[in-house]
Amino acid sequence: MAKRFPAAYYVERILAHDRLGLSRAITLVESTLPSDQELAREIIQQLLPFSGNSVRIGITGVPGVGKSTFIEAFGTFVTREQQKKLAVLAIDPTSQRTGGSILGDKTRMETLAGNKQAYIRPSPAGKSLGGVARSTRESIILCEAAGFEVIFVETVGVGQSETAVHEMVDFFLLLMLAGAGDELQGIKKGIMEMADAVVITKADGQNLQKARAARAEYQSALHLFPRTASGWSPKVAISSALENTGITEVWQTIEAYLETVQNGSYFEQKRQHQNLHWLHESIRQTLLDRFFAKPEVKETLPELEKKVLQGEVSAFAAAEELLKFSN
Ligand code: GDP
Repeated sequence: MAKRFPAAYYVERILAHDRLGLSRAITLVESTLPSDQELAREIIQQLLPFSGNSVRIGITGVPGVGKSTFIEAFGTFVTREQQKKLAVLAIDPTSQRTGGSILGDKTRMETLAGNKQAYIRPSPAGKSLGGVARSTRESIILCEAAGFEVIFVETVGVGQSETAVHEMVDFFLLLMLAGAGDELQGIKKGIMEMADAVVITKADGQNLQKARAARAEYQSALHLFPRTASGWSPKVAISSALENTGITEVWQTIEAYLETVQNGSYFEQKRQHQNLHWLHESIRQTLLDRFFAKPEVKETLPELEKKVLQGEVSAFAAAEELLKFSN
């Protein structure tokens, strides 16, 4: 095990905007060792007053839509043109992939990785969605205390991770490809409803016309959704990360959103609701972890699984039997 320091070390290093200190603290947040978790809690508690000063942006889209290429272009814009310090975190539950994090892949986000204004943290390997969501959320707090002003949270997993990301960001960006036929095909309505903006990617070359048509189509589809309490109506933009077009517009859209929601109390309210969500989520997660870690449960679960598979016991009866060990 790597060396551990007292909480004050991490707190001091992070407040001095030191990347190594930040990385070491994130490692604690990701650790499953009870002693590391306790240390992580102490650090977070002390840093909480220094967190919150960032724009948290969720970025999602199916694999191949161009997320990493877009993040490179958009991230470069944010750091170079806007002169803001950017942290890029990813939610990549390994249960949905094999071989761990693709953010760890050296070919991904090469430009941004060499950018002094940017900090890229690969998703922790070998964790469930619940586990990775929790450590990403805690990492956001650490990054903010370390002076990062813009945080991207990218979903790499397909499916449920969008909801987790939506619960930890201020602005949710959905990347979409312009299709030939039915533009709305293949994307769940629920995810569209979460989007504060949709960006049609790869709007270049022969794809440009299609992207423009898709923009019109998505814009009218989004109008059909009920307006949210934020007072913001979602926007659709087109962008080519390769040709670096549409990037400024995406940033301007986010600024316009912030202006809308920071005018009233919505921005703060949303963050407060998210805090409550994570309180409940941590209770659920901790209870589950404790339950599955019990020796009696570990011992009995495989037998009961077999019985359920063979139809000898109903799933509910098996659950009841196991839950006897929950006290
Ligand atoms: P991810 O899986 O969503 O992270 O997608 P990638 O960023 O890895 O991109 C998938 C593929 O689309 C790669 O072959 C990219 O070169 C290509 N691609 C990404 N952005 C653009 C773009 O703006 N224009 C074009 N023409 N291709 C792009």
